[in-house]
Amino acid sequence: MNEHKGSRFAHITRAHPCFNEKMHDKVGRAHVPVAPKCNIFCNFCTRDINNEEDRPGVTSCIMKPDDAITHINDVTADGPISVVGVAGPGDSLANEETFEFFEKLAKEQPDLIKCMSTNGLLLPKYADKLAELGVNSVTVTINAIDPAIAENIYSFIKYEGKVYKGREAVEILIKNQLDGVEKAADNGLVVKVNSVLIPGVNDKHIVEIAREVEKRGAAMMNILPLIPLGKMKDLERPDCSMMESIREEVEEIIPVFRACTQCRADAYGIPGKKSEDHHLGMTPQSHY
Ligand code: SF4
Ligand code: SF4
Ligand code: SF4
Repeated sequence: MNEHKGSRFAHITRAHPCFNEKMHDKVGRAHVPVAPKCNIFCNFCTRDINNEEDRPGVTSCIMKPDDAITHINDVTADGPISVVGVAGPGDSLANEETFEFFEKLAKEQPDLIKCMSTNGLLLPKYADKLAELGVNSVTVTINAIDPAIAENIYSFIKYEGKVYKGREAVEILIKNQLDGVEKAADNGLVVKVNSVLIPGVNDKHIVEIAREVEKRGAAMMNILPLIPLGKMKDLERPDCSMMESIREEVEEIIPVFRACTQCRADAYGIPGKKSEDHHLGMTPQSHY
């Protein structure tokens, strides 16, 4: 990590399990599933409500912001949770409830690190607001910055009341993702970029994403293997050697987070410690 970014963000990364591999099995995060809607269509995405699958986009329920605050009060009383995140199951910024939740959380528990993930479409619009709400870190998922590649990954976007498809859609998305990274970083948020590695689609392109997002102010990247689902259910999941060689290439440009195991939108507890990691489906639903 370059010195300037490293020292600027040290107070966050020290205690954040998703930005500091050493903390991934020591401190916890709690995701609140307050954001069900999404404004784009990624071809690998299948959101679902169930108690079984252990992957992003899955939750056992959708919570209202007030219930989410109660849940956070409960889990922070139980264990060492340092970060509270909104990670869907849809796009955090496409749901008003995300803002309401963070506003309430800042009043209720001002010392917790506030985090969220987004596809970045609305990040230029909301980066200032997130900073005002005291959100500390954001993960933006960017799977291509070349429109010709992105067209294979996204089917459509819904933006400012209109549906866009094909080249027009991905050009808007890419521009907003990169401008959003820059604006969030300029506003003092720690920005991590997630890229889903899709063999045969963007595997040779991830390093170009790294170069661009590093320039735009991202502090770190997390390269995730495709989970073949949805329209991409017949594609191969990348093998370990492909993952490793691309992570090594990217690491020449920007720090790479390697401890991620792709958790659920309702996960809470210590992500790197199986016995202390939970999700909402494991507790009685009547509570919510
Ligand atoms: Fe699914 Fe996330 Fe893509 Fe939306 S942005 S379609 S929730 S993977
Ligand atoms: Fe970690 Fe992403 Fe959740 Fe933030 S939103 S706590 S970076 S998994
Ligand atoms: Fe974040 Fe991945 Fe860890 Fe979950 S497993 S807390 S998504 S870094």
